[in-house]
Amino acid sequence: MFDGRYPAVLLFGAPGVGKGTQGAILGRIPGFYHLACGDVFRSLNMGSPEGREIYEYSSKGQLVPDELTIRIWKKALQGHIAISQYKPPDEFLILDGIPRNPHQVTMIDDIINVQHVIHLICADENAMIDRIKRRAIRENRADDANEDTIRTRYKVYQADSEPVINAYPPELVTRIDAVRSPAEVLQAILQVLVPLQNQWLAGLPDDPLS
Ligand code: ADP
Repeated sequence: MFDGRYPAVLLFGAPGVGKGTQGAILGRIPGFYHLACGDVFRSLNMGSPEGREIYEYSSKGQLVPDELTIRIWKKALQGHIAISQYKPPDEFLILDGIPRNPHQVTMIDDIINVQHVIHLICADENAMIDRIKRRAIRENRADDANEDTIRTRYKVYQADSEPVINAYPPELVTRIDAVRSPAEVLQAILQVLVPLQNQWLAGLPDDPLS
């Protein structure tokens, strides 16, 4: 039910598991809006104090401090709403890269209403590291540039981010095997999200103008 918070689906999983790929595809489907925290950070001006501070952490594979992360993320979300790129409450927000630790879960709980968590799983860490290295060349990403930084990101993911999954009731979480083609992973995600979205839209009050 709409309670003023934005309906959201979290894409969750280790670095390189395909959250960004799936998020970008989902974001092209009417009714979904993809917002990746890492993309927000990378879009900042590196000459600004905030941009520089964020780069300090992200280029080392460390998490950006929570207060700064949430402040910038909220600003981006507000901006996307202000220019009607993201249109709540009809559209599901597809979040990727946030919340990234249990503290962030509580910090954004007054803004987003988590409808579901898609947990993308890949048991083979080395396969993920290979994917990330290929992405580094393609996207020129500083945080993907060397293997040490990538390994740090995995450690941070295991220590800080994995506990996020326990913050949500198990019935809200679907585990999906990410070691398949993008189309197959997408199919598995949509199988979960399409009925959820229909349910959500059916529960919204009628628009008095239509
Ligand atoms: P990946 O998808 O490979 O995990 P992202 O693009 O999501 O990478 O994030 C890149 C970097 O930006 C992270 O390694 C981290 O330093 C920073 N970052 C992104 N989202 C957050 C967040 N919610 N909290 C803290 N730091 C973040």
